[in-house]
Amino acid sequence: MIGLAAAIAVAERGVSVTLIGESRPGEASPAAAGMLAPSVERAVGPAHDFGIAARDRYPSYIEFLAEQTGIRVPLNRLGILQVALSGKGVKGLQKTAAPTARWLDAKELRELEPSLAHAVGAMFNPDDGAVDNTLLLSALWKIVSTNARIETLSDAVTEVQPRESSATVRTKSGASHSARHVVLAAGAWVGRISGARLAGAVEPSRGQLVSYSTSPLSHVAYGPRGYVVPRSDSTIGGSTMENVGFDATTTSEGVEKVRSASEEICPSLSRSKETRSWAGLRPVTPDMLPILGPDPEHRSLIYACGHSRNGVLMAPLTGDLIADLVTGTPLSLDLSQFRPDRF
Ligand SMILES: Cc1cc2nc3c(=O)[nH]c(=O)nc-3n(C[C@H](O)[C@H](O)[C@H](O)COP(=O)(O)OP(=O)(O)OC[C@H]3O[C@@H](n4cnc5c(N)ncnc54)[C@H](O)[C@@H]3O)c2cc1C
Repeated sequence: MIGLAAAIAVAERGVSVTLIGESRPGEASPAAAGMLAPSVERAVGPAHDFGIAARDRYPSYIEFLAEQTGIRVPLNRLGILQVALSGKGVKGLQKTAAPTARWLDAKELRELEPSLAHAVGAMFNPDDGAVDNTLLLSALWKIVSTNARIETLSDAVTEVQPRESSATVRTKSGASHSARHVVLAAGAWVGRISGARLAGAVEPSRGQLVSYSTSPLSHVAYGPRGYVVPRSDSTIGGSTMENVGFDATTTSEGVEKVRSASEEICPSLSRSKETRSWAGLRPVTPDMLPILGPDPEHRSLIYACGHSRNGVLMAPLTGDLIADLVTGTPLSLDLSQFRPDRF
């Protein structure tokens, strides 16, 4: 998703793009739950402001995608509920609440979401929500495959060689391609590309998810051990965070854990038929923030990776920033916390 969003944003500024990629089991973007949750998955300082700006970039981005493709990607901005199931849970949520959040008591919560009537209350985070990341990917692919400025090549990048004012990539098929800028957006695998010297800190973190065939909620809801995300006719429950290398398979323990965390939040889900379970590999960094910007020693090489738990949230705004960097447009956001040389 990061590579597609960047390619489209750069092409929109009139620059030709060659998009080199291959599909791999465990790709994060189609596996994700699609939450836009900067108030819950909260960073500090300018990184938090970036998350909020990324969330608020979505409505205009959805319009842009609809105009370009005819695909209207569902966007939920109803707010996210952090559900408390005990007195201890209430205290914890009140201590860590975002300044923009508001406490809902049991009655208010029941009126808003009857399926959460068993809860003690919830912290309500306005404007957070979710996007249907699979339809978003379809729309992005439709633009990429029809935009005359974007050439797509199915190949694996093995090496990148940055020089003073250009960079070259070499691929598994033996080809080599040079450009004024090379953008590295290879998800959890980015550190395996030879020459990507500042991406070594990116590691895969497996997340397992389940989907239920009913949709009893209209709001995204977090509980003490997981979250549930409503889609139009289903509900996604997540997720584990596992350090198991590049293994993108599900396990019965993982799926059971996710089911139990989801049904604790929304008990009526236990009556619906589970439709499927899957796993994906988040590209995580030690501080869970992305690596975004040029290599200070080779400015032709731009990093756009390590988006950790928030890559869907950040994809449209990351695309804008990459286009600014490629076209030499002054940046309007503070990227200091995302510096590629910080690890
Ligand atoms: C279970 C789960 C739940 C998540 N939930 C959310 C959420 O609710 N909200 C949110 O904002 N984020 C969420 N995320 C995180 C989000 O999915 C990621 O941060 C984001 O998708 C990363 O996008 P990406 O394009 O960097 O990586 P990917 O989607 O993994 O894409 C990387 C691409 O590069 C390709 N590639 C890799 N190496 C090479 C190579 N050498 N040559 C060519 N191609 C290569 C891969 O095959 C893949 O196509 C979740 C992730 C997981 C796994």
